[in-house]
Amino acid sequence: MTKRISILGATGSIGQSAVSVLEADRERFSVHAVTADSNALKLAETAIRVNAAVAVIRDPVALPLLKQALAGTPVKVAAGDEALADIAGEQVDLTLSAIVGAAGVAPTAAAVRAGNSIALANKECLTCAGSSFMKLVARYGVNLLPVDSEHNAVFQLLQGHDMADVARITLTASGGPFLGWSKARLSDVTRAQALAHPVWSMGDKISIDSATLMNKGLELIEARYLFGLEPRHLDVVIHPQSVVHAFVTLRDGAVHAELGAADMRRPIAHCFYWPERRTEPFEALPLASLTDLTFQKPDLDRFPALQLAKDAMEKGQGAETVLNAANELAVAYFLENRIAFTDIPAIVRQTLAESERYGLLHEPGSVEAALELDREARVIAARMLLPRQKSASQKPTAQERRSNPTV
Ligand code: NDP
Repeated sequence: MTKRISILGATGSIGQSAVSVLEADRERFSVHAVTADSNALKLAETAIRVNAAVAVIRDPVALPLLKQALAGTPVKVAAGDEALADIAGEQVDLTLSAIVGAAGVAPTAAAVRAGNSIALANKECLTCAGSSFMKLVARYGVNLLPVDSEHNAVFQLLQGHDMADVARITLTASGGPFLGWSKARLSDVTRAQALAHPVWSMGDKISIDSATLMNKGLELIEARYLFGLEPRHLDVVIHPQSVVHAFVTLRDGAVHAELGAADMRRPIAHCFYWPERRTEPFEALPLASLTDLTFQKPDLDRFPALQLAKDAMEKGQGAETVLNAANELAVAYFLENRIAFTDIPAIVRQTLAESERYGLLHEPGSVEAALELDREARVIAARMLLPRQKSASQKPTAQERRSNPTV
């Protein structure tokens, strides 16, 4: 039987990997909707590639271009936040949630309310709205399938095990591009250096999070809600080769691992075909060449973002929401060359402290309340960011950036 799928965030790194999975098996899948923020041409091209029925762009300014690019095709088009929420809330067999950031939370919640199974890449559903989002998933009884490679690995490793037998879940981290760098060198990191991930090819936001190790902190929060474990049962180990994605330690000391190539098409396909398995069309992992797999403890002094995420987990969902919001804004500022790399965790720390002072770190009772707290935290973070912004003379001009995109 054909599975009908909608892809929220179809033009991004995950969205495009998903498209290549769907293209390889057109008999098994059909695509209802594809969505994007503002990249009209890529959205149109994607809609045509997957034969989508509908293409929705969030930014209304991009609608004329989308219409023009899809003229003469049967693809229906729409634009705006409401259109995005409406299409996300239409019933399909499976929604791939692959919008980046907290912007993905409300559309994914709409898909849950429609009763759709969810392939979850958008980690912010859990890092911004963790317990509330999981309550919604439970209320609507939908399948929640983790796309994030580490969580997808854990999901697979847990099949057939009783959660009472699970002593520990350990997520691996590549360590990002600055694994061996000194603290002093980290303050001079450029945007281009931070975006150059040694193993994974990903969107800008998650690439920066991987460089600060905040991504691994966000993934711990994700794991806590997905698998219902207390923070003390969750751990991180640095594994630069990114071959092992996660470990599950059982209470009798048995350690199970999931291995695979660093290719997001694998976990995406796992979710698309679940509960079945497809025949792997890509090259299988060459086991005999895996001679050098190394594991080490993360350095929380050089990479304080991971510690901040662990501390937020201890405080609960309110702190996690604030951490996620402050980090998202700080990363956006770094990507615009407005602050230094090392300012990112500093802003998150300050925003958490300030939010605590205002008594904001209580548990938001719903997804909507979490999004409201997200907005409040961004206002506080923006105030913290002001004095840290680079002066105009330090900032590269638009002309400089065009002629040298690495500045
Ligand atoms: P990208 O930046 O590559 O793509 C983001 C997608 O979201 C694009 O389609 C973009 O549209 C759309 N989008 C951006 N802002 C908005 C908005 N305000 N409203 C609606 N749509 C929006 O991100 P990734 O694919 O890298 O990541 C997506 C999610 O998956 C993130 O939460 C990330 O943490 C998670 N993830 C990603 C992995 C990866 O390998 N990339 C691995 C594991 C998890 P447009 O193109 O028009 O801007």
